Amino acid sequence: MVKRLWLLAALALPCFAQIRPAQLSGPPVRIPSKAPAPTLYLTIVMHNEEPNIRQPDYLNREFYLQNRETLRQLCLTIRKKGATFNFQSDWNFLQAVAKYDTGDVGGGTNGKNIVKWMVEDLGFEADPHAHATKYSYADVAYLHTTVGVEPSKIVGGFIWAPPESAHWEEFREPIKGRIYPSHSWTAETLWGAATFLHQGKDDQSFGIWRPKDKNNFHVDDPSQRLNNIGNGCYTSISSKGADIAGVLRFVEAASRGVVSPDGYYTANLFISQGRLDLAVVDHLSKALDTLEPYVKQGIITWSPLMRTVNRWRSEYKSKAFRLDCAELPPAETPGK
Ligand SMILES: [Zn+2]
Repeated sequence: MVKRLWLLAALALPCFAQIRPAQLSGPPVRIPSKAPAPTLYLTIVMHNEEPNIRQPDYLNREFYLQNRETLRQLCLTIRKKGATFNFQSDWNFLQAVAKYDTGDVGGGTNGKNIVKWMVEDLGFEADPHAHATKYSYADVAYLHTTVGVEPSKIVGGFIWAPPESAHWEEFREPIKGRIYPSHSWTAETLWGAATFLHQGKDDQSFGIWRPKDKNNFHVDDPSQRLNNIGNGCYTSISSKGADIAGVLRFVEAASRGVVSPDGYYTANLFISQGRLDLAVVDHLSKALDTLEPYVKQGIITWSPLMRTVNRWRSEYKSKAFRLDCAELPPAETPGK
């Protein structure tokens, strides 16, 4: 029942719905040439949602085609700038892809539907994202296969707090389809720890660890199979602007050597698909230009989520690491 209430309440707001003042990139960060800086594994994450009063219905063909073209422009921009993309889709958009994205609608995507093109031609990752009011994570994973895409094993968004609203422990076991009961899906990794209606503290951890249980989410328990990729400091790319100040705070702190060089740092730039327009593409493009020098210096490494987890397992030997955004040292006063 608690879960049902959460689900109903969640309809009212999109994911990551905080409205904050647009904050542009800020002053350039000066980096000493021989700073022993760690790297930040960064990716761009996008969500589409279930249709509701705030979110579009992609099964509206005209809206779908318009949104698809803007999404295509966004993808081309990400690709051109050498960044990475995790496309996290709920059921409604995937149904629209299956219904409309066939034949001659596939303009500019090598004759493939938009999701298949992203995965096969651009090397992006597709993760299920489910609010699970009707379609479970397993159903959404199955819907990916109906458009010719193998979904990742990443849970693309979940509630971690308060604990009574947290439902992520269910992903320790295979999830069953509700609409497609013959299908199941087994998650390996959690991503996108959010709070009930985003009214609490959305998680802003850098790092990867194995959450112990819903009452001890930040405690690593090596006996747990599921790992969690931290969101890093809050970011947002919207038509209002690009708020990447949290990423720049990390870059600045890392370049001053005030974060551990041995840490394993993760973050993302978040975009909502429902409000996608060319202004978003433009703001993202400029944000990627702002970040480019730090990519060249190795302080930022573009890395989609699966690659980031695999790297954590192989290069970091699956060691738990977590740094809260709030623990990042404050930026140095300019001119000091
Ligand atoms: Zn969502």
